[in-house]
Amino acid sequence: MPSRPRFNRILLKLSGEALMGDGQFGIDPETVGRIAGEIKVARDDGHELCLVVGGGNIFRGLAGAAKGFDRASADYMGMLATVMNALALQNALEKIGVDTRVQSAIPMATVSEPYIRRRAVRHMEKGRVVIFAAGTGNPFFTTDTAAALRAAEMGCDALFKGTSVDGVYDADPKKVATAKRYETVTFNQVLADDLKVMDASAIALCRDNNIPIVVFNIREQGNLARVLGGGGTFTVVE
Ligand code: UDP
Repeated sequence: MPSRPRFNRILLKLSGEALMGDGQFGIDPETVGRIAGEIKVARDDGHELCLVVGGGNIFRGLAGAAKGFDRASADYMGMLATVMNALALQNALEKIGVDTRVQSAIPMATVSEPYIRRRAVRHMEKGRVVIFAAGTGNPFFTTDTAAALRAAEMGCDALFKGTSVDGVYDADPKKVATAKRYETVTFNQVLADDLKVMDASAIALCRDNNIPIVVFNIREQGNLARVLGGGGTFTVVE
């Protein structure tokens, strides 16, 4: 990014919805393949990458609780949904020759490694893309908070939040035509104005650990590499 040091090691947070493509539910293989291609470009450009993937395209704890499931059980179901998404991404990445490891916060020895911080760092140093599954492993949290936590643990230079809008606005750009996009915005303003970026615990964690959040549109083809190179449109929360 111009006038900014290059972000070498990044954590990319993908919501489950980013994997749905134009569908309303589940995993669209074509979309997952495209995102995997974008991750490969960033990796080939020398960036060290790790990913946290959500599960909202399959199951959300809050929605389950609203239908009568016990909240903690529903949250565990949501965490398991993120494991499915992680395996889909792993598959798509390996198909195009990107070495990956999935590490799950809920140990699941037959499908993934358990989460081990030092091992994850080592994988990234070796050029492998590490995909963190099962959020934080705790109910009552979200994968946004998991992303902030893992970004801090991995010593990431930035957290890249791929969404369906091209940054942070002062109002919902899908509803308010005059909504203005911020180039940069402070963590405290995001919290004070309740701007929709990530949940408050994720914002506070990034603030306290000096990890800038780069909000960009992951639905736009080629955007990850563009934004990593300082081009395109995005907002930096710092
Ligand atoms: N979840 C959880 N603890 C975590 C991360 C996730 O309990 O540390 C559960 C929670 O029920 C959440 C679901 O997993 O609704 C899917 O994650 P999230 O809603 O964050 O996914 P996204 O919105 O990013 O697709």
